[in-house]
Amino acid sequence: MSVQPSLPTTEVELGDPLPVLGSDVTVPLVTGGEVPYAALDYAASSPVLASVWNDVASYVPYYGSVHRGAGYLSQLSTDLFEQSRETVREFLGCRADDEVVFTRSTTDSLNMMAAVLPAGTKVYVFETEHHAALLPWRDTELTLLRAPGTRHEAVEIVAEALAGHDPERPGLVCVTGASNVTGELWPVAEITEVAHAAGARVVLDAAQLVPHRPVDIGELGVDYVAFSGHKMYAPFGTGVLAGRADWLREAEPYLAGGGASRRVVRGGDGFCVEWQHGSARHEAGSPNVVGAYALASACRALRSQGFASLVAREEALLRRTLAGLAAIPQVKVLSLLGDCAPRVGVVSFVVEGWNSSHLASALSAEHGIGVRDGMFCAHPLVRALLGNAPDQPDECGAPEPLAPGERPVNAVRASFGAGTPVEHVDRLVAAVARLARDGARWTYRTEAGRCVPVR
Ligand code: PMP
Repeated sequence: MSVQPSLPTTEVELGDPLPVLGSDVTVPLVTGGEVPYAALDYAASSPVLASVWNDVASYVPYYGSVHRGAGYLSQLSTDLFEQSRETVREFLGCRADDEVVFTRSTTDSLNMMAAVLPAGTKVYVFETEHHAALLPWRDTELTLLRAPGTRHEAVEIVAEALAGHDPERPGLVCVTGASNVTGELWPVAEITEVAHAAGARVVLDAAQLVPHRPVDIGELGVDYVAFSGHKMYAPFGTGVLAGRADWLREAEPYLAGGGASRRVVRGGDGFCVEWQHGSARHEAGSPNVVGAYALASACRALRSQGFASLVAREEALLRRTLAGLAAIPQVKVLSLLGDCAPRVGVVSFVVEGWNSSHLASALSAEHGIGVRDGMFCAHPLVRALLGNAPDQPDECGAPEPLAPGERPVNAVRASFGAGTPVEHVDRLVAAVARLARDGARWTYRTEAGRCVPVR
């Protein structure tokens, strides 16, 4: 295995990673001894930024209820919660009349989006989306868009589908900013232009984009943005749906309860309710102030570090990873939009002859590397990338080696970000090369659907 000599080789050349919790955690190896844990599963949940943790720790002694208490700490917590909303608004470059609603996660945000659609809305979604973007539209007329082979084709497919869209009818295109499987960046601004020309709106699934690239609602032109705190270094149970106020204002509240209601009186057999306007309408129940504050802290940290340096560093890690994997003949890196499509630090791959679950388990047990294996909650996309039919059984069958010519049913995904040291991606490449060449050093078995080392 060789890494191209022109690639930066040290942290000095790359710049230091941002400090994250867990960077000094060591994990046991089945083969004996301990190694520092290489967290390469940022796309599932990233580690916590040290600055976020420090902010949370400083606030927690002052924790109090939000929008429901007269005491000093309630007032302080309410102020922090609303300031956090303003921080997110600035971070996203929201338009003056956009709402910023705190949710639990991207999944929650996209389900909220589906719940506030005006009657008769037509929704357009690529079949390659994450399930959180694919599945919430069950009560809506849905057009599934076929998988594109290039970024340009993605725009064309949206244009074709929307050519027949009745502009009098509300329309919504849901598209991802960066794929959680391939890391590839989708042409969001171009898709938005096409959608708007046809009278449709766009909701951006920014779960994998926000930690890696600046997301500016004004610049991209999108109407709504959804993302999660736990993928952007703030894992305290908060997400965001931000965007145009009208549909949010006119819809029934996403959740019914305290905080969303302004006035409730007995009427007839039940109640007459005057619902709140603005974000409170969809934030019933006691808000998660710690989560919102942590998410806002992460926004501040990323902004103050500057995306220019974050992107430059991540792209250097990505080049290094891709070059290293390309030098291993048995490895195939997955790509939907073509090798030239820009990516964030998310790389999925398969290794000839290996069940991906077996490989992922050996990376963990023998090398201390945490990756994810599976279909990444994007089953139609992963099946298409692996060339598997929808009716093929998805059981991974690990740890048996694949028969010659047999296709794996799932993949391995390595993902990284602002806290990743070079050593982690180098260790991954070296470990994959060694496993592909020499096989596993340990014995594995399947237990409750997972491939685990025999102990
Ligand atoms: N969209 C994408 C692209 C994702 O990667 C994920 C998480 N894997 C989600 C949506 C859902 O995010 P969450 O689990 O935080 O709701």
